Amino acid sequence: MTSPSKGAAAEQQRDDDKIIVFDTTLRDGEQCPGATMTFEEKLQVAELLDSMGVDVIEAGFPIASEGDFEAVTEIAKLAKQSVICGLARANFNDIDRAGEAIKPAKRGRIHTFIGTSPLHRQHQLQLTQEQVYERVVASVTRARGYTDDVEWSAMDATRTEHDYLCRVVEAAIKAGATTINIPDTVGYALPEEYFDLIMMLKTRVPGMDKVVISTHCHDDLGLAAANSLAGIRAGARQIECTINAVSASVQATRRWKRS
Ligand SMILES: [Zn+2]
Repeated sequence: MTSPSKGAAAEQQRDDDKIIVFDTTLRDGEQCPGATMTFEEKLQVAELLDSMGVDVIEAGFPIASEGDFEAVTEIAKLAKQSVICGLARANFNDIDRAGEAIKPAKRGRIHTFIGTSPLHRQHQLQLTQEQVYERVVASVTRARGYTDDVEWSAMDATRTEHDYLCRVVEAAIKAGATTINIPDTVGYALPEEYFDLIMMLKTRVPGMDKVVISTHCHDDLGLAAANSLAGIRAGARQIECTINAVSASVQATRRWKRS
């Protein structure tokens, strides 16, 4: 018979090895050209994912439209076992809307993100490094007011300066993020680079061992699966994925060829 302490250690071991499947078919997948779903279709897909035992379902982007808000709320009501997640940009309106939408869920998560690469900071957000840093802290803190399950994403992480990425990831963890997602937003990384990036964060960021590291790889170069697995090998424990993969350019090309 195993002693209680050995049992606890074994339990801990299993927890550390668990890979969390985070399905974003209903959010990132749905944003692909040609992949838009009706309200009923979204509920059907969510019901299937929940019954399959998918750990986390990203059900939508509640601030985006009334329809998205309602879909997330309905999915939050119907889910029996999955965590239901709503996406929010780094502002209070988005986060409050996501917080409202996931309220009926047995277990709800807010996923908040901001672009951290120079391209995103300067051209999309027109914010300095310090301003983005402040938004990270404010948005994660706000989200924690709704749920203790908060995911933070460094959008375009694979093109972000390493020193700065370490700083913002550390800030998100200190503000209460429980999952840190490292997206390859433009589907640009190679598996060895993505492996090195996760290892770099694990080595340099204090508190990284206390959170779940997540992969979010786009399939523009056909490397999403290989990159995600490289991330897992480096210690990530959540894979963000969709049914049929996310590859905006590939989808757009197929659509263009059809028309
Ligand atoms: Zn994505």
